[in-house]
Amino acid sequence: MATFGTLSDRLTETLRNLRTKGKLTAADVDGTVREIRRALLDADVALPVVKEFTAKVRERALGDEVNRALNPAQQVVQIVNDELVGILGGQQRRLQMAKTAPTVIMLAGLQGSGKTTFAGKLAKMLEKDGHTPLLVACDLQRPNAVNQLQVVAERAGAAVYAPEPGNGIGDPVRVARDGVEVARRQQHDVVIIDTAGRLGVDAELMKQASDIRRATDPDEVLFVIDAMIGQDAVNTAKAFQDGVDFTGVVLSKLDGDARGGAALSVASVTGRPIIFASTGEGLEDVEPFHPDRMASRILD
Ligand code: GDP
Repeated sequence: MATFGTLSDRLTETLRNLRTKGKLTAADVDGTVREIRRALLDADVALPVVKEFTAKVRERALGDEVNRALNPAQQVVQIVNDELVGILGGQQRRLQMAKTAPTVIMLAGLQGSGKTTFAGKLAKMLEKDGHTPLLVACDLQRPNAVNQLQVVAERAGAAVYAPEPGNGIGDPVRVARDGVEVARRQQHDVVIIDTAGRLGVDAELMKQASDIRRATDPDEVLFVIDAMIGQDAVNTAKAFQDGVDFTGVVLSKLDGDARGGAALSVASVTGRPIIFASTGEGLEDVEPFHPDRMASRILD
């Protein structure tokens, strides 16, 4: 049981009392659930998600699925662990690649969430696996965004497709479509489309992202979200799910203080798997997301 150590540290007193018992009572369960609720709120998991989660744990703990091999304390820990890992996606999920190249991966998220940096990280990971990614600059909103992507691509040693400077402001949907075409012609087997970030949820930019999605029919749409976003995680994730819809999540800035409550909030309200965790500014600072490790971190 991966989380036993950390969870039992957190719930020492409650679990110590439970350990001596032969059977879980409603009062035992309620006490433990209160502690879990506090731990989740401390980790910045959104309140509605905490409520739903604790209700489920309570229901299961009081239900009759008794595992006789475990004492009551272990049973509670196992239920909490199972539920957390379940919401976080269960198994680690890999990127879906197209049967016929190029695979198209579109990135979306708020400005500053770590999208462009992740584009470079993803390119580098894919190159290590023998792919030849092409980065496509569709953030034509901020004057410096294209340049930023070019810098990241250079660090990753990856090719970029961007509109020519002086060629008008450019239509991001067209740039995306052309980018996929260029990849096909130049035999890049993966296309990574960086879209415009926005400071808040913005209807016009959401429509733009949705149009890019429709024009390029991506195999993956990855929603990049800053793990430090805290309680705003739910509204932001829902807005992107309604506006663009995404197939997976990238949780960035996990090297910060955030305990990762955003992971549980986003996975719980969207039902989409978290695929990668970004852990720093360097292009090597990224790893596949492991639901079991995140469960431990949330309850640490
Ligand atoms: P974008 O606006 O979504 O494209 O965000 P950027 O990729 O430009 O990132 C915004 C800032 O966050 C930059 O200063 C990055 O160096 C930094 N950043 C990105 N990812 C991470 C991460 O995983 N950890 C940390 N500590 N910083 C990050």
